[in-house]
Amino acid sequence: MIKFDKVTKRYPGGHEALRSVTFEIAKGELVYITGHSGAGKSTLLKLIAAIERPTTGTVLLNNQNIGTLRRAALPYIRRNFGMIFQDHKLLYDRSAFDNVALPLAIDGVAGREAGKRVRAALDKVGLLNREKAMPIALSGGEQQRLAIARAIVSRPAVLVADEPTGNLDSNYAHDIMALFRSFNEVGVTVLVATHDAGNAEGRLLHLDHGALTEGVPA
Ligand code: ADP
Ligand code: ADP
Repeated sequence: MIKFDKVTKRYPGGHEALRSVTFEIAKGELVYITGHSGAGKSTLLKLIAAIERPTTGTVLLNNQNIGTLRRAALPYIRRNFGMIFQDHKLLYDRSAFDNVALPLAIDGVAGREAGKRVRAALDKVGLLNREKAMPIALSGGEQQRLAIARAIVSRPAVLVADEPTGNLDSNYAHDIMALFRSFNEVGVTVLVATHDAGNAEGRLLHLDHGALTEGVPA
């Protein structure tokens, strides 16, 4: 489903964030991307989600080279992905319900259908009774679960999470990782970048200063 072939990423004025990285991820896999801070984990995820382009090498999504697509095509590619960040990126002046409804509004889904889907998403992350709450009234773990509800409400094929438990204590972190496993069990491809491999059970792709040092499939 996702294939990197000798992908190098050099930021303007920077050194190489990724160095000739080659791997493949099949539909339905759960993959952890591990490595120290600055190893290139975020860069790898941004290339997968077509937020950044490779400097050299190819990034294929379902056999389509997404590194060379026209800019206008990128929003369609990005619909395949639900993104989750360490800092949630919630809208703090809107309710939990409205945060989750936003991606649907962008897709033109509104009214009763939107309400149904927002509540289904909130239910999956255990926040159905908090739909009217403002994010600030939620705990850190609840805020991250809200961000996950927003990421899954459009039913993306792939969930991409960048250090989703980085700001959470270990109990909450455990809940969040269990949620990712539960989405994976129903067929969603899940990619989680974490500097803390302790919580990771499954396939690991390990980055060291931009080089993939483990997890290259045979
Ligand atoms: P990680 O997610 O593992 O912490 P990143 O992918 O964020 O690593 O960063 C890898 C390297 O690329 C780091 O040296 C970082 O400073 C650099 N980098 C990341 N984003 C940019 C950018 N937009 N411009 C320049 N350098 C960047
Ligand atoms: P993470 O730890 O998740 O990799 P960072 O805090 O390193 O995130 O980066 C936050 C943002 O700043 C990202 O969008 C990243 O691309 C950008 N960034 C990171 N390092 C640099 C850098 N050296 N120069 C410019 N932008 C950077």
